[in-house]
Amino acid sequence: MQLTCRSFSLKLAHRWTISSGLGPGGSGGTDLFPVAFVELKDTNGIHGIGEAAPSTRYERGVESTLEFLRRVDPKRLAFENVPASMEYLDSLEAKQFAAKGALNIALLDGAARQAGRPIYHHLGLGFTEGKHVTSFSIGIDSPDAIREKVCEADRYPVLKLKVGSPRDKENLAALREVAPKKPIRVDANEAWKTKEEALKNLEWLASDGGIQFVEQPMSATTDANDLTWLKSRAPLPIMADESYLSMADLPRCADGYHAVNVKLMKTSGISGALSALKAARSAGLKTMIGCMIESSVLISAAAHLAELTDYLDIDGNLLITNDPFLGATAEKGIISFTNTPEAIGLRVRARPGISS
Ligand SMILES: [Mg+2]
Repeated sequence: MQLTCRSFSLKLAHRWTISSGLGPGGSGGTDLFPVAFVELKDTNGIHGIGEAAPSTRYERGVESTLEFLRRVDPKRLAFENVPASMEYLDSLEAKQFAAKGALNIALLDGAARQAGRPIYHHLGLGFTEGKHVTSFSIGIDSPDAIREKVCEADRYPVLKLKVGSPRDKENLAALREVAPKKPIRVDANEAWKTKEEALKNLEWLASDGGIQFVEQPMSATTDANDLTWLKSRAPLPIMADESYLSMADLPRCADGYHAVNVKLMKTSGISGALSALKAARSAGLKTMIGCMIESSVLISAAAHLAELTDYLDIDGNLLITNDPFLGATAEKGIISFTNTPEAIGLRVRARPGISS
């Protein structure tokens, strides 16, 4: 097996800010998001591609991802045995979820190609066209910019609003001026410091009447008793994101949340996400697949698991202007593989004309 990797800077259409990156006076945020692409090729010419989009919330960034990837012995990776390949990667280091995730996706791409079918069939899940709709995310900004972004996102039927800034109320009002009826998801990214503050905000959000759920109201380190206190009083469903990295976090999340947000960059790829989704569903929690700022490689990888979700939030590739790949599409928010150039594996191919 041959392993190659390279870094790439995804360019954001709008400066991207969430509560954890918010600076004084509304400053902060980012215009570029560094990722790494990996490719595996075996001696039979079967290849697989993957992507790492490490979030600084969990990891040290793309340089550390690349450093880990350079330490991997590709001879220990095989399309024929993905579980053993992952065990080898876990033996090298406990963390590095993004790097392992990239390799897991590349391994499953190759394995499914070898079997001549898409990953969703390879995993026995299937994929129903026309059923899976992603939300479109609106980052923290000024009310004027929010209004403009919401108008630009007119074709997407569900929005996700990032909150946790001093202007949350003005921002939601600005959104509602231009999208009075659209269903909205809200993401606080751990912004609220106490259970009382979180409850007050949930009550305010519930009064909107069109909000589906609120992600991660408080820090992932919040005391379990405070989480159950909030869950028992919450007028809207609350969803764990930063609190639910993998299925190991299930016991805590089952008591403190109504739903979980699974991301391939937290679960070390598709295999870990499959376990995290199945575990959450069997505990009676609703599930969503979310994303980081990502290209179509990671977004398509997430789409293969859509059948195990109640909600999708896989818009990372819609927020960038230089996606080097073509994969699952999101016309009007509807995730589809119908016009995807590849019929098998991850169903992703390099986009002509964009240097990757
Ligand atoms: Mg979130």
